[in-house]
Amino acid sequence: MTGNGFVFSEKPIRIDSGSGPYLYDADGTEYLDFGASYAVTPTGHCHPAVVDAVQQQTEQLLYVQGSYPLDVRDELHSALAASAPGDIRNVWLCNSGTEANEAAIKFARSATGRSKVVATKRGFHGRTLGALAATWKQKYKEAFEPLAGGVEFVPYGDATALDAAVDEQTAAVLLEPIQGEGGINPAPEGYLQAARETTADNGAALVLDEIQTGLGRTGTMWATEQADIVPDILTTAKGLASGLPIGATLCRDWIAEDAGNHGSTFSGGPVVCAAATATLDVIEDEQLTDHAADIGASIVEELQTAVGADVRDIRGQGLMIGVEVKRGANRLLPTLALEHGILALPAGRSVLRLLPPLIVDHDHADRVVNALTEVL
Ligand SMILES: *Cc1c(COP(=O)(O)O)cnc(C)c1O
Repeated sequence: MTGNGFVFSEKPIRIDSGSGPYLYDADGTEYLDFGASYAVTPTGHCHPAVVDAVQQQTEQLLYVQGSYPLDVRDELHSALAASAPGDIRNVWLCNSGTEANEAAIKFARSATGRSKVVATKRGFHGRTLGALAATWKQKYKEAFEPLAGGVEFVPYGDATALDAAVDEQTAAVLLEPIQGEGGINPAPEGYLQAARETTADNGAALVLDEIQTGLGRTGTMWATEQADIVPDILTTAKGLASGLPIGATLCRDWIAEDAGNHGSTFSGGPVVCAAATATLDVIEDEQLTDHAADIGASIVEELQTAVGADVRDIRGQGLMIGVEVKRGANRLLPTLALEHGILALPAGRSVLRLLPPLIVDHDHADRVVNALTEVL
């Protein structure tokens, strides 16, 4: 099992506190956090506006069953619906990304009366039995079979293969606008539009998993906006409450009207709702979406001119950046952390993944570019 507190087998880094783009250990050693713990802290660590909102809410009400309407939950519903593309205006709240995708699959099956799900090779959608069934990597699945059935995989980015797989039995096509875990693979030009077209033609739901790409990270609030399409269901989680556990399944009316019977005890709890609304407010007030586009573009540009022959490719959008290297990406992480005080992430074996908080500035970016130039 992972999660025992050791980031690197040879040298544990034990985190004690965080502030803005930085994490600190108990001795006060500072780390510039360019992984944001897998995109979970878009507003940085302990943003004062988020902390304030949480503190106030903990004193007012920690929990009440979801069947009682709450102002703090209604505010989040409205903010999410307002942020969503096109006519998506229904919001189902839950506690994680995998649950948001479970709900998406359930809602799509219920609304269409069909069962088949088309997912993509190298896609990642979570680790509960339904979302895991739509996740590609065998390593995550093999010990736990049988998973939920009815999933067919197609190569990511191949519109012809997708079109051939979607038929009158298809409930949903589930994919990421940019594959995260799979190696920072942006959808090729026209692919998301083709997915929109074939699902619409066949009466299937298009489900976009924006759990990693969403919340301003790619330079627009949702990555789907850049393809100028509106999915039937959009899922979000990770950074939505700046680190408190939350997920959301946003859907169009035709999905919501026939979504079936679904529920969860902690869905839409007051404290996470307060944190999430505060997070959305910070993203808007500090214009973090445009900021992510600006800083991300300059990181990619500088990296492209600075790094050497060891680098195969630099790709991504906004502050979701992958650096594909010739030799293992994992071996670079301890050096970056221990010698340069910079935390990054892997994506598969060969890609170094940068998903910093959206508040990082040009100085932070320069520090990372310089460190990467040195280790690469
Ligand atoms: C992290 C992630 C998930 C799973 O979210 P959890 O909160 O870990 O369950 C699903 N899809 C994508 C694209 C992710 O990045």
